[in-house]
Amino acid sequence: MRRYLFNTPFEEFDQHEADVAIIGSGIAGLYAAYNIDEDKSCVIFTKDKTDVSSSSLAQGGIAVVLESEDKFEYHFEDTVKAGAGHCDEAAVHTIVEEGPDDINRLIDLGINFDTDSEGHLKATMEGGHGRRRILHSGGDATGKEIVRILKQMVKERSNVELLQKYFVADIITDENDKVCGVAAYNNGWHFFRTNHVIVASGGIGQVYRYTTNPLVATGDGIAMAKRAGAEIVDMEFVQFHPTGFYSSTNRNKQCFLISEAVRGEGGLLYNDKGERFMVGRHERCELAPRDIVAREIYREIENQASPYVNLDISFKEREFLESRFPTIYNNCMVNGVDIAKEPIPVGPAQHYIMGGIKSDLDGRTNIEGLYTCGEAACTGVHGANRLASNSTLECLVFGRRAAQSINSKPTRKGCGSVEFTRQNISGEHIDLYEESINLKGIMVKYCGILRSDKYLRLGFEKAHKITQMLEEAELSTVEAMELYNMCLVSEEIFKAAIARKKSMGAHYREDDIDD
Ligand SMILES: Cc1cc2nc3c(=O)[nH]c(=O)nc-3n(C[C@H](O)[C@H](O)[C@H](O)COP(=O)(O)OP(=O)(O)OC[C@H]3O[C@@H](n4cnc5c(N)ncnc54)[C@H](O)[C@@H]3O)c2cc1C
Repeated sequence: MRRYLFNTPFEEFDQHEADVAIIGSGIAGLYAAYNIDEDKSCVIFTKDKTDVSSSSLAQGGIAVVLESEDKFEYHFEDTVKAGAGHCDEAAVHTIVEEGPDDINRLIDLGINFDTDSEGHLKATMEGGHGRRRILHSGGDATGKEIVRILKQMVKERSNVELLQKYFVADIITDENDKVCGVAAYNNGWHFFRTNHVIVASGGIGQVYRYTTNPLVATGDGIAMAKRAGAEIVDMEFVQFHPTGFYSSTNRNKQCFLISEAVRGEGGLLYNDKGERFMVGRHERCELAPRDIVAREIYREIENQASPYVNLDISFKEREFLESRFPTIYNNCMVNGVDIAKEPIPVGPAQHYIMGGIKSDLDGRTNIEGLYTCGEAACTGVHGANRLASNSTLECLVFGRRAAQSINSKPTRKGCGSVEFTRQNISGEHIDLYEESINLKGIMVKYCGILRSDKYLRLGFEKAHKITQMLEEAELSTVEAMELYNMCLVSEEIFKAAIARKKSMGAHYREDDIDD
């Protein structure tokens, strides 16, 4: 594995300084920045525009115990049950019990959660939840609203600088393995000297052929943390959302999500014979945990002629659908599906990774000065399978905690010496687009919803060949660096999936081998 993606000594980069560097402008990164003390300079890097993130796409909402008939212990139990017994219970207690304060803070900041005619917050139900506890905004535009308010708050902070179109390639460490900066690309290389880096770079969806994640989700943060020596865990636990909008043009890009909330509001699943196939497969039928619904849909699709199943909510009034699901309603309409009249074609798509950079409850990793939060992190809160709408809550709680942890540290401590060796470059031409399509195909075929030892090993070999090709390549473009990161992340998923011989949560082994 290469240590750094760039091949220029960073002394030759444009030099900058900051007390804290945050990689990512999703909910985790923005809320972390908002919580950094104002006497610390903080820079947020984002590789596209600020709004391009999974956070902005979050539809269903944010799960939180606010009503008296709900209790922390019910939210805790639902989370742990979905996580298949693999959750870190302290982490679950932390988000469940601290989440309401963060939500109330957002409310104080002026966030517009949906309310009823009397001004009470509306809460909906989602798969795996035993109570109506999902707050939403703009019907199904919750993430957009949270990002809007956080972006506004961060922009008002004089200590925070938001740098768009800055691709962070690497976290720089010194001879004592302590963080001393980041290397970022924006019309040339920049070195930001800092002792505190928060990786809030989101997920890895783009390594799969079908994903609900945006194009920026190439696993960069996880890959660069690995190169810096951070522990990466639980990568076999990849969540596939049962209901990505099916269209032949989504391949290798991004599938529009049909939120769980559609099933929460009564949406029913049918196969191409018109049978409600979830009945009898799980006690909660369409509202069973995601992995179960995704697997059952996958099996139906394998055994029927049609490449998708139907999700029907057309029995609801048009006015209700338009106001409750404006984003879904409009996107389906644009794609030729009137959801008030006809069912929505859906199929499973990669949606979330439960694993990531191992961190404690304060966002700390095993590398001094390296913190992480949000989807790139693994606190263990989601165990082997994430409960719907817990991710946005996790971003808030652990984003804040990572910031508070940094606030308690002295500002700048300097940096030891940094080792850099120029890479030998092979000069061989690599078709980056073709290899990325190749990798996505390998992941979906060999490391998707149903797994087996034989296929995982075969897939790993294939993915590794692409990594090897890139080991000595000149990674002179962002696309090349992203592809190398995608390869590293894919290998981590394969290795973890091979090592876990028994099925657990989202990791489903058809061969379920005894150790
Ligand atoms: C379609 C969709 C719907 C969802 N709905 C819900 C929901 O209703 N409720 C819920 O709880 N969860 C939902 N999720 C999951 C949830 O939205 C995400 O897990 C969460 O928002 C991740 O937030 P984050 O801040 O960790 O990362 P993201 O929001 O993904 O942000 C990552 C940021 O890092 C930046 N970045 C990445 N790499 C680099 C780099 N190399 N250099 C610089 N910047 C970089 C990106 O540009 C981006 O700004 C949904 C996810 C999707 C995709």
